[in-house]
Amino acid sequence: MKNHTSYRMLDPDNCAMCGMCLNHCPTYKINNNESESPRGRISIIHGLNDSMLEPSTSALKHINSCTLCLACETVCPAKVDFYNLITKARDKYFKNQKNIFKIKTILISFFLTNSLVKKTINSIIQILNNKILRIFYLRNSIFKLINYTKIQTRFDEEIYFLSKEKNIGIFTGCASNMFQKDVANSCIKLLKKNNINSEIIKNVECCGSLDYNSGRINKGIKYNKIANNEFNKKKYKKVIGYASGCSSFINKNKTKTNYQDATSYILDILEKNNKNNFKVTKKNICIHKPCTTKSAEIDFSKLMKILQTIPSLKIFTFEDNYCCGAGSQNLIHNNQNSINIIKPKIEFIKSNNIDLILTYNIGCSLNFINSININNIDQVEVTHPITFLNNILL
Ligand code: SF4
Ligand code: SF4
Repeated sequence: MKNHTSYRMLDPDNCAMCGMCLNHCPTYKINNNESESPRGRISIIHGLNDSMLEPSTSALKHINSCTLCLACETVCPAKVDFYNLITKARDKYFKNQKNIFKIKTILISFFLTNSLVKKTINSIIQILNNKILRIFYLRNSIFKLINYTKIQTRFDEEIYFLSKEKNIGIFTGCASNMFQKDVANSCIKLLKKNNINSEIIKNVECCGSLDYNSGRINKGIKYNKIANNEFNKKKYKKVIGYASGCSSFINKNKTKTNYQDATSYILDILEKNNKNNFKVTKKNICIHKPCTTKSAEIDFSKLMKILQTIPSLKIFTFEDNYCCGAGSQNLIHNNQNSINIIKPKIEFIKSNNIDLILTYNIGCSLNFINSININNIDQVEVTHPITFLNNILL
């Protein structure tokens, strides 16, 4: 018979129950509830694994609400591997989730990883984006969420092609391919201004993180292998992807691929080219630092340094360093949590008259747009730094 002592329960991940992680956790901050803290989640997972807890909806909701920001991992003296702990638990207990959770997760993956479905949705979005129809949405709060689509644009048809070995391949990522085509176009244009040829990589729908992080590890691994094989097959000089969430996952799982996050790559280019000529830009911008910055290997200080050379630009950073609350499909499954977690940032935007938010992760962009709409501050724009830099680089 198993010995279910509390020591044994906690031993596998060495959690010392010190509580140092608590005040760094965004879900604990808004709920002030031990079960919504890293320490609470560890206890729940070990309780489930040792069959002391039933995989009930009330137990699993605390595993689902983790944004995978990994702020807890950074401060944990026992070096608990939170990413593995949460993703494995989500995978193991996926079958026990509520049907609505399973359906939403499967549908999101289906919509975002199927190119034909995406093309159809894109066509519908094009129609909904019609200026005349949008007047109606803006008057009707039920349709506020349609504003998600305002960042959707077409890929430019123009492709600058020499030979694959000399080209940079641009990986769009599954959600960015739908909502942030403008960034791929900006990448191509910005690199062109620096005499670098690039093209969008076709036939790769997803890096795998979408499924891996939401309880379907095998599916995530499958997509990741397809992506890596395709990247290696094309023999690009370098592959770059512009969603930091994708870059973080690809960096963890890449095989041979010469991959670099697109923001990181473009900042290197701009830094080397020390005579960048930027337009005068009279704006108050706020730079958001996604939780995946470190694992995506993006040098945030380099971004700040380059932005500081733009004439007339007033730069702000958020006062709180918490995750924005979008991570790990929280925007879909725990929308109210995402809204509550991002609230201090929305207050900061309002009180500092921010015109523009720069963020390099698609989930964070959508979370900002959602809360901007809810708070009726639609004049605030959300843009990827690559698009912003391309627009003002002469
Ligand atoms: S990963 Fe983030 S949200 Fe999840 S427990 Fe750790 S700090 Fe909290
Ligand atoms: S900081 Fe680490 S050891 Fe301390 S309670 Fe949190 S997870 Fe456990």
